[in-house]
Amino acid sequence: MRAIRVHQHGEPEVMQLEDLTMPTPGPGQVRVRVEASGVNFIDIYQCSGQYKMNLPFTPGQEAAGVVDALGDGVSSFSVGDRVASAFTLGMYASHALIAAEKLVPIPAGVDSQTAAAAMLQGMTAHYLTIDTFPLREGHTALIHAAAGGTGLLLVQMAKLRGARVIATASSQQKLSLAREMGADETVFYDDFPAQVKALTGGRGVDVVYDSVGKDTFERSLECLRPRGYLVLFGQSSGPVAPLDPQVLNAKGSLFLTRPSLGHHLQTREELLLRAGDVFGWIAAGALKVRIDRVYPLAQAADAHRALASRETSGKVLLLP
Ligand code: NDP
Repeated sequence: MRAIRVHQHGEPEVMQLEDLTMPTPGPGQVRVRVEASGVNFIDIYQCSGQYKMNLPFTPGQEAAGVVDALGDGVSSFSVGDRVASAFTLGMYASHALIAAEKLVPIPAGVDSQTAAAAMLQGMTAHYLTIDTFPLREGHTALIHAAAGGTGLLLVQMAKLRGARVIATASSQQKLSLAREMGADETVFYDDFPAQVKALTGGRGVDVVYDSVGKDTFERSLECLRPRGYLVLFGQSSGPVAPLDPQVLNAKGSLFLTRPSLGHHLQTREELLLRAGDVFGWIAAGALKVRIDRVYPLAQAADAHRALASRETSGKVLLLP
């Protein structure tokens, strides 16, 4: 088998493709022949050392493929089944060992590249719109980086729940893409608080979904109605500075949360529910997954550079 290995933290070049011995699945494990692996910001943080890892390791948190061997005690899957997973390390590889309880079946009507592209960011948009702030008709949401991988899915799920969506992005092309996916209003970052106030008759939005972090956080607080929710779920521009809680009082008894997908996949039932909804919407044509670009596994470093440098609009995949 082939896998990307990282022996020391650093720039994307630390990722090297290596030949490894084919692993045998242990009890409760499934070996998956990977057809596509998703690239996510967390992979960049883990390679650079911003998130410290035990070295060496194989990056990658999501994949889709075909079951090609079963460990003892696995009865829920058979060889040949199409499966996907998220939140298990080691997916930048031709084959991966995954605990059966972490796998979900891919329904007919969803191809493997789409499945790999939708798992992590799709389930993130799912919990953000359904659990973190349950959107409904009458709500207005501000979504930053709306043409990003998570952003495009977030815009569509917010619309599925009946909310009005104001979207930000850094270029006209990206704003057009957000609009194609359903955004009602689109604005550049320059003076978004003033524009949001104007678009909401001075009231402010019910919720801001902020994955940009450092560059937008303070101004996101300016966009909320009294008792509104700031959902800070990422930091693509860098980490946010420490905050005095009194600020939340002064700006209108605001709520602030910093959620993570891991805490929203606590049980197998939760995993099956979220992945089932996401795949179901895709199969029904209600949710579009935009794959921006695809790289061979050997070019994982190029994939990281493209995602980090704001070149992409939608998902980046690696193919073994
Ligand atoms: P995106 O596809 O959204 O790419 C990042 C986007 O952020 C860029 O395209 C860019 O859009 C915007 N951006 C703004 N400033 C910068 C900057 N200085 N450098 C790079 N990008 C910038 O990535 P993802 O959807 O994969 O992830 C977005 C964030 O969400 C990441 O921080 C990620 O870790 C986080 N995340 C969190 C999860 C959770 O559960 N908490 C789960 C999934 C992702 P533009 O040019 O339009 O500004």
